[in-house]
Amino acid sequence: MSVNVHKVTEEELEEQKKYEKRVISVLEKRYEEKPLACVVTYGCQQNVADSEKIKGMLKDMGYAFTEDRQSAKLVIFNTCAVREHAEDRVFGNVGALKKYKLANPDVIIALCGCMMQQKHIAKKIEESFPFVDLVFGTHVVHRLPELLYKALTRRKRVFELPDLDGVIAEGIPVVRDSDSKAWLPIMYGCNNFCTYCVVPYVRGRERSREVSDIEREFRELVDSGYREITLLGQNVNSYGKDLNPSVSFAQLLKRLASMDGDFRIRFMTSHPKDCTKELIDVMASCDKVAKHLHLPFQSGNNRVLKAMNRSYTREHYLSLIDYAKKTVGEALSITSDVIVGFPGETREEFEDTLSLVRELGAISLFTFIYSKRVGTPAAEMDDPVSYDEKSKWIQELIALQEEISAQQLSTQKGKTFKGYVFGKGKLGKNYLAARTDGNLIIEFEGGERLIGTFQNITVTEPLTYVLKGEIQKQ
Ligand code: SAH
Ligand code: SF4
Repeated sequence: MSVNVHKVTEEELEEQKKYEKRVISVLEKRYEEKPLACVVTYGCQQNVADSEKIKGMLKDMGYAFTEDRQSAKLVIFNTCAVREHAEDRVFGNVGALKKYKLANPDVIIALCGCMMQQKHIAKKIEESFPFVDLVFGTHVVHRLPELLYKALTRRKRVFELPDLDGVIAEGIPVVRDSDSKAWLPIMYGCNNFCTYCVVPYVRGRERSREVSDIEREFRELVDSGYREITLLGQNVNSYGKDLNPSVSFAQLLKRLASMDGDFRIRFMTSHPKDCTKELIDVMASCDKVAKHLHLPFQSGNNRVLKAMNRSYTREHYLSLIDYAKKTVGEALSITSDVIVGFPGETREEFEDTLSLVRELGAISLFTFIYSKRVGTPAAEMDDPVSYDEKSKWIQELIALQEEISAQQLSTQKGKTFKGYVFGKGKLGKNYLAARTDGNLIIEFEGGERLIGTFQNITVTEPLTYVLKGEIQKQ
């Protein structure tokens, strides 16, 4: 695959800094107080990370933030295209702002993210949502100052949707949603073209950030007190294949885990076809790598996996899980993604998914009914099973997983975990909530000063979704 990835240059970033100054001057003339911006994010953590950059740039341009759309002078919807349901929500929410925009013509309504990279969606926005001022795609987020300046000063609507293989922009400011937990994208895009999935079409080709850029950002995060850092990519296991010299994800993880400081590293998502024993070994041997493997299998049937273009078999998937359970041991917790009702999937094939779920012993599952995506190969496949029937299947799957999750939680009684205390709990007034290495939530009684620290907590009572525990006195 010949790929043309553009690394944004210093000059281009300088150019955007100039636009930032111009936006500041427009805003100062237009508003007496700091204008408010509302950034609404749909979809995956990559979108959350993009929104954090959008907020970083907006802050530098003089905006303050609000959650209330109808008091904002700028509303940006960062959209998700993975399933139809997510798209419908965006249309509904944008439509709901029409009155507000018509009553307040100085307000800017902007749409960005994966949905916008689809031509039929951009066309629909152009034709049916004339009150939307600015539409920009996933490859031009770093040009927000320029695009916003145009939207603020021109009478025309601004559409900027280049169809590129992808860009990498370093040095964009970030306003993070949490001050203890951070998302750190290590790569962008996807080359896998699973037949149901729109991501490779809207996010471009796989491209890895340089190790030095990741290490620098990681160091800054640890130094400023972030204790849980999640490395992000559509398929982190193919990290570094495009770098020269190439670096494996396992090597990157090991380097980050060897840095000084009190932190824990998570990562997602791992594609089973590229998940290596080396990666599992690093998870097992590095204390700072969380013992949590999110390894989506999508289906438990080999014919369906082939039709999905997943490039692994049920047996290969289970052999990886087996290796991980043996190597990482009891501490390992597994989560996964499953699609129910892929076109042509039969009842018998779905039962293979149920049996895989029984063998897997995941702590939780993300389950989805197949959603037809325009332009993907699966959209052309025969899909004879009704939506009602698929809904029954998914209910069966969810009920099975609930049993397994409850059983998994029940075995935790008496165990002691190092938990990161991330906030207040829900079980009672004095309760705090901590996340374990394996991504389980334990609630325990304790003072708020413990928030933001790691504590050893012993499980006293497994409840339905959380564990109840007691802090160990040091
Ligand atoms: N890159 C990740 C997944 C990104 S999308 C991976 O390969 O694991 C997150 C999840 O959404 C997928 O794992 C899949 O289970 C689900 N998904 C993607 N496209 C879908 C579709 N068209 N219909 C239903 N679920 C879908
Ligand atoms: Fe979509 Fe497959 Fe890429 Fe994941 S690996 S983003 S499911 S194409």
